[in-house]
Amino acid sequence: MLNSQAYDLGANRSCIRELFEYGRQRAAIVGPENVYDYSLGNPSIPSPAEVNQTLAQLLQDTDSLALHGYTTAVGDLATRQAIAQDLNQRYATDITPGELFIGCGAAPELCAVLKALTVPGSKVLAIAPYFPEYKPFAEAAGAVFAVVPADIPNFQIPFADLESMLTEDVTAIIINSPNNPSGTVYTQQTLEKLAELLTKKSQQYGHPIYIVADEPYRELCYDGIVAPFIPTIYKNTVVCYSYSKSLSLPGERIGYIYVPRQADDGEALYLAVAGAARAAGHVCAPSIWQKVIARCTHLRPDLCAYDKNRKALYEGLVAAGYEVAKPDGAFYLFVKAPGSDAVAFSEFAKKYDVLLVPGDGFGCPGWFRLCYCVSYDQIQRSLPVFRQMVSDWK
Ligand code: PLP
Repeated sequence: MLNSQAYDLGANRSCIRELFEYGRQRAAIVGPENVYDYSLGNPSIPSPAEVNQTLAQLLQDTDSLALHGYTTAVGDLATRQAIAQDLNQRYATDITPGELFIGCGAAPELCAVLKALTVPGSKVLAIAPYFPEYKPFAEAAGAVFAVVPADIPNFQIPFADLESMLTEDVTAIIINSPNNPSGTVYTQQTLEKLAELLTKKSQQYGHPIYIVADEPYRELCYDGIVAPFIPTIYKNTVVCYSYSKSLSLPGERIGYIYVPRQADDGEALYLAVAGAARAAGHVCAPSIWQKVIARCTHLRPDLCAYDKNRKALYEGLVAAGYEVAKPDGAFYLFVKAPGSDAVAFSEFAKKYDVLLVPGDGFGCPGWFRLCYCVSYDQIQRSLPVFRQMVSDWK
C-alpha cells in the first residue's frame, strides 16, 4: 500500500513547473525568443568568479579523500567558523560554530527545523504570499499548516489577522524576507512589532513561539536596503539560509541553519534540528561545497543585472497601467491581475506566450508573479506585449 500523501505530491506537478514545461513546448514551435517566460526563479547571474576559482583550486590542491569524504553531519568546523565570523562582522553578533548546522539548502533545512519545532497537532503559520512548499514541509512534520492573509498592497504583516490566528497550538511562524513572490523586505519596524506580539503570546501560553526565518534572498536587496538580521530582534528565531540565490548555486545544495544558543531551549533545539535532519536521511552537506563556502563567505552577488531588470519591468508595467507591489528585494515582481482573477489572466497571457504564475498557489489570489531573473532583452521585448494584453483584456 502506498502513502497517498506522498503519491499526491509526486503525481501533481506544481503550477510553476507546468507553466515552465508549457513554455518549452511553445519555444520549440514559435522559437525561444518569442516566449516570454517569467515562471521560474532560477538565478540568471553567474556565481562570482571567485567561487569557481576556489573550486578549481580545491580540486587541484586538496587530497581527494578529504575533498570527497564524509564530513561530520553538522558540517566542517572550518566552514562553520567562517560563516560565524562573517555573520558576526556584519551584524555585530557573537555567533559560534556550535550554533550552526551546514545543510543542503533552505528546503531541507526548513523541513528539519519544522520537524524539530512541532509535535503532531502543532500549528505552523505562514504569511501570504508564501512559498508553496511550506505546506508540504509543515505537513510532513505532522503539523497543521495555516496561512495568515496578505497585507495588501504593502505585503508587510497584517497584525490584526496574525494576532487572531496566534492560538495556543501555534509553535512556529515561517517568515520569508526578502519575499518570494512579493519582493517585499520586512522593515525593522514590522519585525519589532512581530517580536513584541510573539513575546506577548509566548508569555500568555507559557511556551515559545519561534520564528523560522527562511532567508535564501537575504543579500538580494536594492536601493541600499539591508534586510534586518532577525535573531537580533527576536531571540527565538531559527534561520534557514541558502547559497542558492546569493551565490547562484541552486543545484549545488548548500546552506546553513543558525539555532541561537540564547533561544529558549536553544541547545536542545540544535540537537533536535540535527536529529530531524538525520531522520530525513541527512548525512552531510556536499563536502566540496562546504570547503568552497569556507573560503567564500565574504562574497556578495553583483545585483546590477537584476536591478536593471527590476526597474525596467516595474516602471514598464506601471506605465502600462498595472498595479505592481514595489519590490525591494529578491527577483520577483508581484502584480495585480486585471479583472482580479489571476488564474484567468495567466491563461489569457499564454495566448501571447507570456508565462506568469497566478498568486493563488502563494495564498494570494488576484495577483500574479513574474520572475525577473531573465535577460534584459526579454523584458524589453515583452513590455509592448504586456501593454497589448492589458488593452485586449475584456
Ligand atoms: N524558500 C523560498 C522562499 C524560495 O524561494 C526557495 C527557492 O526558490 C527556497 C526556500 C528553497 O531554496 P533552496 O534552493 O535553498 O532549497
